Amino acid sequence: MPEINKTTVGVAVVAGALGVNYINKKMNQEPGREPWDPRVDSQVHYDYVILGGGTAGCVLAARLAEDPNINVLVLEAGYTDDINASKTPAMMSTLWRTDVDWNLRTVPQVHAFGRVMDQPRGKLLGGSSSINAMMYHRGAASDYDEWELLGNPGWSYKECLHYFKKSEGLNDPRLPASHPQGPLTNRTKKPQYEEFEPEFHGTDGPWQITYHHMFGVSESFVRANMAIGVPFNKDFNGTSTIGVNRVQTFLQRNAVRSSLSRAFLSPKENVPGGGARGRIRIVYGAHIARILVQKRRGVKIAIGAEFLDENHVMHKVMAVKEVLLSAGAFGSPHILMASGISPEPHPTIPHIHTLAGVGRNLADHLGVPVNFRALPHCHTFDSEARFYRIPKLVYDYRVHGIGPLSSQGAESVCFVRLEDVSPEFVAREKANGTWQDRSSGPLAPHFEVLLAPSYFRHHTKTKAPDNGNYFTLVGLLLNPVSSGRVKISEVQDGKIQTLIDPNYFEDEFDTRVMAEMVRFIRRIGQQMRQDSTCGAVEAYPGVDSVPNDDDVKLQEYVKRESSVYYHPTSTCRMGPSSDSLAVVDARLNVYGIDRLRVVDASIMPKVPAAHTCAPTVMIAEKAADMIKEDWKDVVNSSKDPTIAKL
Ligand SMILES: Cc1cc2nc3c(=O)[nH]c(=O)nc-3n(C[C@H](O)[C@H](O)[C@H](O)COP(=O)(O)OP(=O)(O)OC[C@H]3O[C@@H](n4cnc5c(N)ncnc54)[C@H](O)[C@@H]3O)c2cc1C
Repeated sequence: MPEINKTTVGVAVVAGALGVNYINKKMNQEPGREPWDPRVDSQVHYDYVILGGGTAGCVLAARLAEDPNINVLVLEAGYTDDINASKTPAMMSTLWRTDVDWNLRTVPQVHAFGRVMDQPRGKLLGGSSSINAMMYHRGAASDYDEWELLGNPGWSYKECLHYFKKSEGLNDPRLPASHPQGPLTNRTKKPQYEEFEPEFHGTDGPWQITYHHMFGVSESFVRANMAIGVPFNKDFNGTSTIGVNRVQTFLQRNAVRSSLSRAFLSPKENVPGGGARGRIRIVYGAHIARILVQKRRGVKIAIGAEFLDENHVMHKVMAVKEVLLSAGAFGSPHILMASGISPEPHPTIPHIHTLAGVGRNLADHLGVPVNFRALPHCHTFDSEARFYRIPKLVYDYRVHGIGPLSSQGAESVCFVRLEDVSPEFVAREKANGTWQDRSSGPLAPHFEVLLAPSYFRHHTKTKAPDNGNYFTLVGLLLNPVSSGRVKISEVQDGKIQTLIDPNYFEDEFDTRVMAEMVRFIRRIGQQMRQDSTCGAVEAYPGVDSVPNDDDVKLQEYVKRESSVYYHPTSTCRMGPSSDSLAVVDARLNVYGIDRLRVVDASIMPKVPAAHTCAPTVMIAEKAADMIKEDWKDVVNSSKDPTIAKL
């Protein structure tokens, strides 16, 4: 059988996925989830208007609509997530750079040779949770205790844990498929990697969490880490997050992505605890232009929003109770600034309110890859993705929910601290007086290494040099010192661009830590080389071109080859009124504008040393309770004198 290279297979898969995308987008819309149609959309007043139907927006809508007297409007620029490429874990990367991605880019990065980097963001229901890697990780308890210490009462880990557990519907893989909490599939079991600490997990929430697929190379990674002294961690979301293991994932029992739209808003899939709730109107293809703010007796109040429908016609909707901004770490500051709520006046937008922190404090996790060539028998995605095996892969996934297509990619990871894995580096930095520990505490990691079971570089833009069997180790800088900013452009052809400047490597300490990460990755690679099931050899960059003892070359490599690893936060950060760059208070109210909250990843006071989806869901769960609490005495909207005037 001739071998067709992976690019051909990839192109076929992408073409299929896009075809299905198109059909779903246009044909398969469900009642209550369509583009705005003035002939039927006569209602323009809603209790809550949610701007952005992404990760946080879906959770918020579902929780608020639990009260049958409440009606909620969600404005979402994208369309349905009921598309194969989003449902099937291994097809995730085929969604990037398509019409379900905002296709954002950074501005040229001055400290990284002027490089422009991709910033994928989901533009569909479920937002980035519908295109992401499904890794379920909360971070260290001290990350949240630090949020509280920064002046945000109610955000300690103890209080956040309640909300982490509330959303979670743990499917324990150790249970039989017949058990209500067991996985439905007959996937291969790996009992030694399937532990949970039950007191840290919830079983009744709609968001399904489980351990699922594991390639042989992912096991080899765990063994290699343990061989060089990284402790095995039975539950990254338990007592400690330091160590090595496979990750928990947000997958349904049948191995379909448990995006937040599917988990919280799914009207037709059998999701325990989920399903359709109260009155929620989701408007697809709604591009939010601005928040409407009115001044009443000297008080600025958010009263609604304006959006362009898919035919570019502008509409106005009004919020009887609140406007809730959930457009993500780039979208939320963009919308605030486009509404005249910004650090400084914009040349063409009427200025409404000065808030110095809007768009500031942008933090993200940058990742540096090292590619390895494995022995032909090493079990990777590459070893499975042979043309003649595709029918079997599709059959296994479609019929049994198993096999490589059920893999969400980065199956195994380690979280480590520098003093544990690179004590000489720490000693050198301390001796030079340049050491900076930005971690939240001694149990929080400094960096992470994740294993991608394929050749992975520049978000799949750079392809493998040949048809070989590859895997990639990526080091993620979890506590960046450098931080950046989101701005907006002037109006060009009626559009305003989001200008993203993460300012990577502004602080050279970040560069040095990342160079050290490459050295650590090579130690893992050396161990995997000795593993007869793997036999790794470094393919790129290779020690000849980037020697381990050459700081200059290592640092240059890091600056040339790092990519964004998808966790932008803190552009509307939460903080006390004494914090001049805080945008929202601890109840997520925007300073200076009544009835406007921000609820998404942008409010994080500091990026946690974690994957940011679970923290965002926790924020939305907590926000929903705070909103309900703040309105509990207003039984009926019409009793509120301010509302009656609308
Ligand atoms: C490729 C990728 C992989 C990732 N992998 C993981 C992972 O494995 N694990 C993990 O924990 N995290 C991961 N993340 C990060 C995680 O998905 C995000 O942190 C989280 O989803 C952010 O949620 P959010 O609600 O803040 O924003 P989003 O989920 O992005 O939601 C924002 C929503 O607002 C909409 N919107 C924005 N602007 C407008 C506008 N003007 N008009 C109308 N609608 C608008 C968007 O279309 C979107 O639906 C990944 C992210 C990406 C992109």
